[in-house]
Amino acid sequence: VIACDSCGLLADDRHIRERIERLELATRFRPIHTQALVLDAAPPARAEDYFYRFAKGDASRCAESRSYFDELTGFSATARSSAAEEETGLEAFQRRGLFLAYAVECPVEDSRELAQAVQRTAPTLLKRLKISYRPKWVAVVSPFLAELIPILQGAGWDEHLILDEGKPFASPFGSGADWHAGRLTAALARVSRAV
Ligand SMILES: [Zn+2]
Repeated sequence: VIACDSCGLLADDRHIRERIERLELATRFRPIHTQALVLDAAPPARAEDYFYRFAKGDASRCAESRSYFDELTGFSATARSSAAEEETGLEAFQRRGLFLAYAVECPVEDSRELAQAVQRTAPTLLKRLKISYRPKWVAVVSPFLAELIPILQGAGWDEHLILDEGKPFASPFGSGADWHAGRLTAALARVSRAV
């Protein structure tokens, strides 16, 4: 068993399978031309909380994941929402030219390990941005990406970053009451395509 090239944890069969599964789920909703890439640090630990895994509205996502999903997609879950409605939310997100990606492509629960993984993955991330995603804008979300900002600025992304007063936007995961979703969604509304 070797170390995963994204998170640095041991990459057994299950680890690789889950990473590929997340990639496949996300690829389905990837815009042809990405207007704004929402860049977060790492996917949530629970598979049910993964942004691109659509399921019944309020059945499976934790509160943080529910808030994140609903705020970004404009979807609003109720007790009777169906998987099809979450899928519609993701399709709308895609039509606006928005795509969510993670600097580290696997869940890393320990915050020190995550900070190290973010640092380690920076060169790969720059390649992914330039060769693969090629977004017009990059909205930086999660305090764990603060140290990436100068790296992105130094690599030519300075004029294309969407920040919250020079810092990453908060995310509901781990920041609780500091999650001011409206600031992120307003910034995305300014740069995304109308639908
Ligand atoms: Zn990994």
